Amino acid sequence: MIPQTNPKANYLKHKAEIDAAALRVLEGGWYILGSEVKAFEEEFARFIGVGFGIGNANGTDSIELALRAAGCECGDIVFAVGHTAVATAVGIERAGCVPVLVDIDPARYTMCPNSLEAAVKAAKKDHAKHRPFAIVCVHLYGQPADLGAMMDIAARHDLKLIEDCAQCHGATYKGKITGSFGVAAAFSLYPTKNLGAMGDGGITVTNDPGIADRAKQLREYGWKERYVSSIAGCNSRLDELHAGMLRAKLKHLDADNAGRIEVARQYHAGLTIKTKPWVAADVKHVYHQYVIRVKDRTNLQAQLKEAGVGTLVHYPVPVHMQPAYHRLPRLVPMTHTEQAAREVLSLPMYGELTAEQVQSVIAQVNRLAEPA
Ligand SMILES: *Cc1c(COP(=O)(O)O)cnc(C)c1O
Repeated sequence: MIPQTNPKANYLKHKAEIDAAALRVLEGGWYILGSEVKAFEEEFARFIGVGFGIGNANGTDSIELALRAAGCECGDIVFAVGHTAVATAVGIERAGCVPVLVDIDPARYTMCPNSLEAAVKAAKKDHAKHRPFAIVCVHLYGQPADLGAMMDIAARHDLKLIEDCAQCHGATYKGKITGSFGVAAAFSLYPTKNLGAMGDGGITVTNDPGIADRAKQLREYGWKERYVSSIAGCNSRLDELHAGMLRAKLKHLDADNAGRIEVARQYHAGLTIKTKPWVAADVKHVYHQYVIRVKDRTNLQAQLKEAGVGTLVHYPVPVHMQPAYHRLPRLVPMTHTEQAAREVLSLPMYGELTAEQVQSVIAQVNRLAEPA
């Protein structure tokens, strides 16, 4: 069976360095907010090309802390997409804000600028009591969103741009790395992400020293100094153990991404289906997922499974259609979001797939799939 994702393969590839890092931390005897977290924060911020990194317990918290550190207030409106991990909406609500979900561009799978613009206008008219505060822009599947349009809309409507970078570690837009465009960005370090810990982890990055300061206080009980809470915070720290192992993996992130890009190149060359990923000319796509669109997906998934090919669906139920989120305000049509949710299928994707495995996936998909 070829699994859809395989974090253990990446562990085995870098085992000696990861094991050494883990042992170093275990024997060092300091397990929370020490030298490893500090070094990882510095190294990751340097990788993104920004001034500050603040390690967190997970990517959902990183979204919450980015919004709170950027100055959101209870009841503020935050625009996001419905075609994303539900974590995006969870982070926004945990920050006390109201997610207003907008549609996606059906080729890029990221926020549609026209839908966003329509939602901002509708929010100002219909929800005038709520302040439109920010856009949380998701770079889905490893491809940067249309950042030029996002920055333009953010500037014209006085909204903060926050990037949800959970799926795009190392991706670039017009040659500049994602996570460096918004006032802050949130990265998940969940094991299957392009850069993953051996458990939960996340990091908020920013160039703004004020935001960095607040995010740092918020993640540890609002402490400015030990035992003195100057603001109301939470507990969302990255562990030393994970930070140590992440430092070992960060050194290989570009090479690991190159492995994913090579798998995508082979898929692209070999698959006969026309509904393959579209890639913008001015981006580096890092293929967190390789997503095709198909008809009769449930049946196809079962047949592929039978043929030894694991697949997943990212994501079968858009956020606004989930029971917990029916109550969210609906300001714009979600046509492309709902269609994508019915048709998308994620093929096996990790840099350690062998050429034979990739060819086997291609052969089975070519044999069984009908394009949507
Ligand atoms: C994984 C993910 C998150 C949340 O990350 P966790 O670390 O699981 O909290 C947020 N947004 C997107 C788009 C994700 O893929």
